[in-house]
Amino acid sequence: MIKQRWVIKIGSALLTNNGKGLDKAAIASWVEQIVVLAQRDIEVILVSSGAIAEGMRRLGWNTRPDDIHQLQAAAAVGQMGLVQTYESLFAQHNMHTAQILLVHDDFINITQSNNVSATLNSLLTLGIVPIVNENDTVATEEISFGDNDTLAALVTNLANADQLVILTDQGGVYNTDPRKNKQAKLIDKIHVNAKTLEKVASRTAGSLGSGGMYTKVLAAKTASKSNTNTIIASGKEINILSRLGSGERLGTLIHC
Ligand code: GLU
Repeated sequence: MIKQRWVIKIGSALLTNNGKGLDKAAIASWVEQIVVLAQRDIEVILVSSGAIAEGMRRLGWNTRPDDIHQLQAAAAVGQMGLVQTYESLFAQHNMHTAQILLVHDDFINITQSNNVSATLNSLLTLGIVPIVNENDTVATEEISFGDNDTLAALVTNLANADQLVILTDQGGVYNTDPRKNKQAKLIDKIHVNAKTLEKVASRTAGSLGSGGMYTKVLAAKTASKSNTNTIIASGKEINILSRLGSGERLGTLIHC
């Protein structure tokens, strides 16, 4: 049976229950669902933010600092908690995880990108779930803009993934900002080059991550370069990943 390969990105606001530390119950549920996907021959590369948010919690910082080096320090502290959490939760299902920290330059330098690709392939062949984050000590692209949305798209291209799934705290892409307009309607399906797509995507991010719908839409455009569709869906929807794995249509499908 030919395996499918998905890149799944989970953002900071979801992972940390809006700042109240890592939401272990929610993470345990996504882990269980990724185990179900693996049983259905879907290989998963998990792109996980949450390092800065968890670092802020560990350091007792209530507001996200503006200073980039403080954010980098928080990421270095929080990354420990993030990988510990994933490792212990996947271990309960007898699955190994691997930590991969990348910067955008790793996708430009041919030797480095070949190495990343080969490592990902080896890990997936071994049935291990790679957990990817930006190496925030080295680079600050995702801290400044994107909360790993761009990183997830670059991983999608490099790994030749069949699908990019971006889990967020909203139901998907709406025809207008749902935080400002209660009449906003969820877009079920839209072509990646549709003119309305960028217009409807809000550039406003939450206080815990630097993303927002705009960077998710840009990520879908990048993913389409390797002919990959993107689903933007709510991580709070019950069994979202396993239901997507069963072919259910949820969230917004941005297709090529
Ligand atoms: N790589 C960072 C993290 O995992 C980026 C997210 C952010 O901008 O808060 O925390």
